[in-house]
Amino acid sequence: MADFPKITLLAGGVGGAKAALGLALSQWRDHLSVIGNIADDEEFHGLWVSPDIDTLTYTLSGRINRQQGWGLNGDTSQVLNGLKTLGCDSWMFLGDQDFATHIYRTEQRRKGIRPSAIAQDIAWKNQVDIPILLPTDDVVQTRVSTAQGTLSFQEYFVREQCRPDVTAIEFHGAESAAATPEALAAIAGSDLIIIAPSNPLVSIGAIMSVTGIREALAASPAYCMAISPFIGGKTVKGPADRMLAGLGMQPSAATIADLYQDFLDALVIDQQDAHAAADLRQRGLDVLATNTLMTSDEEKRHLMDTCVSFAFSHIAEASA
Ligand code: GDP
Ligand code: CA
Repeated sequence: MADFPKITLLAGGVGGAKAALGLALSQWRDHLSVIGNIADDEEFHGLWVSPDIDTLTYTLSGRINRQQGWGLNGDTSQVLNGLKTLGCDSWMFLGDQDFATHIYRTEQRRKGIRPSAIAQDIAWKNQVDIPILLPTDDVVQTRVSTAQGTLSFQEYFVREQCRPDVTAIEFHGAESAAATPEALAAIAGSDLIIIAPSNPLVSIGAIMSVTGIREALAASPAYCMAISPFIGGKTVKGPADRMLAGLGMQPSAATIADLYQDFLDALVIDQQDAHAAADLRQRGLDVLATNTLMTSDEEKRHLMDTCVSFAFSHIAEASA
């Protein structure tokens, strides 16, 4: 392994940001790059909103609303109230300070600046020195098929509060989207790739839908480890379990192993799911069963430090 091992984290929003913060608080901070999800992006009130990237940035900057896990701490909603008075839809909550991010991002995009450069610029201006990479600079948007018709991700997630059953998921634009050189270089040049406990379909699946990303993961010499977002057969938060059920899959560690099978070396599962370890090991995976619920910052740091130590000991074993 390299003298200065590089770690790349693939992360969605809230679950992904917890893992990113855990690594940022650990001794591995300077080794880290994060590839975030842009497929939840959508235009609201003429502004380009990128919820998962903002959740990562705000979490790593310490500005996040900790109770919610998204949005800015202490933010208010005067602009949104004003828009409501003007007859605009207000189901997508956007705080007053948060609006500044969306205004700036939109203006920079209109100037033709690469979305990756804008994300990095916003991160720096929020005192985040960890590279936050985009999988693509092109527009890719998750669309879910439901009995109510096809919905954008935010329509499904925020407006409909995940109530409709999902029968199919599409990543509109993914096939023609080009992976960014930064994301491909991070994947190819890492010693360790960690897949955060994020929604495997609409967060990690969306990142991997960009042409070239999944192939790069499979081709990378890095040791690849995923942390299951399921504890005792349920999600900690969000619709991943119901989305999987709608597509005929179980919310289990085995499903995570199936979905990532072409590149996965190790799976971290919760101790409540330790009964699944033997089967997963039979499939050739290294398995760590531990407490994966991250509530406090110390729990986040501890879990991520434990995961990295586990991975590095297996990498060292394999090269001995
Ligand atoms: P979103 O983009 O905000 O929906 O967030 P992600 O896709 O990054 O993460 C959502 C997933 O994170 C859900 O499936 C949760 O089960 C999972 N998750 C959230 N917190 C934790 C945690 O503390 N531990 C584990 N293992 N999973 C978590
Ligand atoms: Ca998301």
